[in-house]
Amino acid sequence: ERIISANLMMEEQAVELSLRPRYLNEYIGQTKAKENLTVYIEAAKLRKEALDHVLLYGPPGLGKTTLSNIIANELGVNLRTTSGPAIERPGDLAALLTNLQEGDVLFIDEIHRLHRTVEEVLYPAMEDFALDIMIGKGPSARSVRLDLPPFTLIGATTRAGQLSAPLRDRFGVVSRLEYYNVDELAFIVARAAEILNVDIIGEAAHEIALRSRGTPRIANRLLKRVRDFAQVRGDGIITHSIANAALELLQVDPMGLDHIDHKMLRAMMTSFSGRPVGLDTIAATIGEESQTIEDVYEPYLMQIGFLQRTPRGRVATEGAYRHLGIPMPEK
Ligand code: ADP
Repeated sequence: ERIISANLMMEEQAVELSLRPRYLNEYIGQTKAKENLTVYIEAAKLRKEALDHVLLYGPPGLGKTTLSNIIANELGVNLRTTSGPAIERPGDLAALLTNLQEGDVLFIDEIHRLHRTVEEVLYPAMEDFALDIMIGKGPSARSVRLDLPPFTLIGATTRAGQLSAPLRDRFGVVSRLEYYNVDELAFIVARAAEILNVDIIGEAAHEIALRSRGTPRIANRLLKRVRDFAQVRGDGIITHSIANAALELLQVDPMGLDHIDHKMLRAMMTSFSGRPVGLDTIAATIGEESQTIEDVYEPYLMQIGFLQRTPRGRVATEGAYRHLGIPMPEK
């Protein structure tokens, strides 16, 4: 079972729901995105109009789904949730759109994975709140335009770069979510502990925060594992030493790196002797999927300055060599 996995495990979903902030004032960090959204939401409410379409992008677990729920709550409208790969045909999207009520939010996760034919239905829907439907076949076929209620599309993606230009251009609000700092994560951990009804010492919350790779989902995951440990090995209270021992067992190092990060960096340093390596080569060498490495592992390693992308491939930095205790190869 992986701490860093991008996918939600089944048992997690109920707990995730209880930990998910419901209003903007409970949503920690992301000051810039929050400030902007507060203004746009207020303005939309004043004008009694649908909020402009919003694109949220950034690595998994930073709070894109949470923020979409919050936007709908703040607007006082319904939220419909789907994902790019789940919408197989244009008709599926048409059905979703025609079921919306005025002002509703439609959330499409992984919007970069929409089929092209489905995406084309979105353009007039986003721009004119209209649906173009073809009736009949052959020479007698004609297009009929159906009006839709004004709505807000919120798209979420880990890869803004993969969005087609016509789709990207139709979002009025584009927000990039950033990795959280340690204080913010410690706050998230303390809040989650309170909801889960577990006692945690400040230093322990800080330790979990340090090892959460800037990601609230990982912070919550680590907290739950550490809680189990505290209940079995201790008296239920999460002290600093309990947290340290549990995190050690979970193989999450003091920088939040797990055994996959280690395997990857080690391979780059030893198997390839520090030469630039292509993503697919790294993936094949350590037996991971390129996409997981690119979406989940790399962004954090780059953020902390352990990995660099060069035109010739990826290279580990001096800081990474130092962290792993491996001497840097002579140039
Ligand atoms: P994403 O959609 O970006 O993958 P989620 O919205 O599912 O991420 O967030 C994962 C979990 O992290 C949520 O269930 C929530 O508990 C927690 N979380 C995310 N952002 C915040 C935040 N700003 N404040 C508190 N908790 C958060």
